[in-house]
Amino acid sequence: MTTPAPRLEAIGLKRSFGGRAVVDDVSLSIGAGEILCLLGPSGCGKSTTLRLIAGVERPEAGSIALDGATVCDQRVFLPPERRSIGLMFQDFALFPHLSVADNVAFGLTGSRAEKRSRVKELLDRVDLARHIDGYPHELSGGEQQRVALARALAPRPRVMLMDEPFSGLDNRLRDGIRDETLGLLKDEGTAVMMVTHEPEEAMRMADRIALMRDGRIVQQGAPYNLYNSPVDKAAAAFFSDIN
Ligand code: ADP
Ligand code: MG
Repeated sequence: MTTPAPRLEAIGLKRSFGGRAVVDDVSLSIGAGEILCLLGPSGCGKSTTLRLIAGVERPEAGSIALDGATVCDQRVFLPPERRSIGLMFQDFALFPHLSVADNVAFGLTGSRAEKRSRVKELLDRVDLARHIDGYPHELSGGEQQRVALARALAPRPRVMLMDEPFSGLDNRLRDGIRDETLGLLKDEGTAVMMVTHEPEEAMRMADRIALMRDGRIVQQGAPYNLYNSPVDKAAAAFFSDIN
């Protein structure tokens, strides 16, 4: 038996701005239901890596495949909407003039009844069914974040890319929403890449951490491996604040 291809596989991604490689030979793969945290200090190239995988930027070199099918290489380039990739950002605002239901249904195709039923299912899962006909301004920040999650999940993306999605949230709400979100994604078998600059968050949430510095991945592995056997002094220092 052959092993199935990883849900997401990126090989040798490279992107430069003004002659400087900000993403340099980045390779990573994520399996179904797996959470990879892309961790590193501000400016190291995390968001650019995420944008390359999403397809909103084009790499100078490298390739990206989903379930073994190439979506990007030197000849192929599928636009973001054809990649079955969901995106969540810190400031991924809801459409204020659309109801909660219409926000969640935004990326869906199909009949009105099919869309309504998927919207209901998702709002149930994020425990917001009672707000289905409400509007964003009637919801708290945490509730809006959960609507954004339902919207991102609605088209059943195979991969979810999250760029510091919880950093805008109140500390009190944050842990609960984060655990709930990642739990839901795992249940759906989504491959998750979560970008963060906080080692503590990565240690807590990741199945695997890819540690990035100056555009390169310097170490990749299970959280306890990076914590216990950092690749160098800088990596050790980065993790040393965690208790
Ligand atoms: P991170 O998300 O890790 O903070 P980014 O990927 O946003 O890092 O940025 C990496 C580097 O690339 C930074 O030095 C940033 O200034 C630079 N950069 C990102 N996007 C652009 C762009 N469109 N034009 C020029 N420089 C950019
Ligand atoms: Mg960033």
